[in-house]
Amino acid sequence: MAHQWRGVIREYLDRLPFEASDPVVTLGEGGTPLIEAPALAKLLGVGSVHLKFEGMNPTGSFKDRGMTTAVSKAKAKGAQAVIAASTGNTSASAAAYAVKAGMQSVVLVPAGKISWGKLSQAVAHKAQILQVKGNFDDCLRIARDLSENYPVFLVNSVNPDRLQGQKTASFEVVDVLGQAPDLHAMPLGNAGNISAYHLGYKEELAEGRIKAMPRLFGIQAEGSAPFIKGSPVEKPETIATAIRIGNPASWDLAQAAKAETQGGFGAVSDREILWMHRFLSQEAGVFVEPSSATGAAGLYKLSQQGELPKADTVVITVTGHGLKDPDWALKDQSGRKIKPKRVSATAGAVADLLGLERK
Ligand SMILES: *Cc1c(COP(=O)(O)O)cnc(C)c1O
Repeated sequence: MAHQWRGVIREYLDRLPFEASDPVVTLGEGGTPLIEAPALAKLLGVGSVHLKFEGMNPTGSFKDRGMTTAVSKAKAKGAQAVIAASTGNTSASAAAYAVKAGMQSVVLVPAGKISWGKLSQAVAHKAQILQVKGNFDDCLRIARDLSENYPVFLVNSVNPDRLQGQKTASFEVVDVLGQAPDLHAMPLGNAGNISAYHLGYKEELAEGRIKAMPRLFGIQAEGSAPFIKGSPVEKPETIATAIRIGNPASWDLAQAAKAETQGGFGAVSDREILWMHRFLSQEAGVFVEPSSATGAAGLYKLSQQGELPKADTVVITVTGHGLKDPDWALKDQSGRKIKPKRVSATAGAVADLLGLERK
């Protein structure tokens, strides 16, 4: 019989803090494709580029990897309700996994700064959604307070169970490539993801499955770049809402990921993000939400500045699916709305419009 991927806890049971008898709440997350992108390799001037397409997870972002572990642990502790602060994808994921676990979910989102696609997921999975009059950092502060003082279980990435699940993405990269890439880039927001990849690769090194660590690069949006500034940003601004975070929770872990791998941090403008968002759709066949194009946009910027380290194999994590926030694809480069042409219902009229000659 064909084998179905069993989700990251069962696939990597011996690498996670779980016993075979522990409750597992899964929607089959992980096992996402690593897609070679020759057009991007050419653009960057490197040997090969592979996109780790995390939009292929059950709720459309990498957050599911950490949600399966966090909600499974919450279930083992008898939790009735989970709470998350979110720019959108954590709430979508928390809501779905709470349904699977038979729990309530409460999500705190910044007022007006969450995409409709993500909000619709939280609504669909009957989360109690509260729009906080503040930004993501305010939401996280409140969620932490509530989880300490009320009977709700925090499933943000400050919960160490989240990073355990998320580290499996580096295992999958090594499983496919048979080695670590020379360089691995991703968008950088609250910094849970880069910390989790670092943890995963360190374990691969300790197990002898890779010979050297990849250089880890985290890329921010210019208007929301505390790691470039060196201190928190009071009022983060960017169209890349998933990384619109001024006070990253995993600050020290991200600094260690950079320092211990000779990696780097970078920042790109919203314009550069949207340019790469389009490039990935049109040249790689991979449709991501704008935030997810940030890692590739950052490497492109470094290559243009002549500062991209020499690399044979590059992996770039694209974190979430394009259908989360599709409006950006429906605008042309000057911001005008793109509408399909209307045509009469005959083959001749369609052929004329397409400029086709009869055979
Ligand atoms: C959460 C998220 C990020 C940022 O990841 P961090 O772990 O917060 O650094 C980037 N892109 C998408 C699509 C996300 O959902």
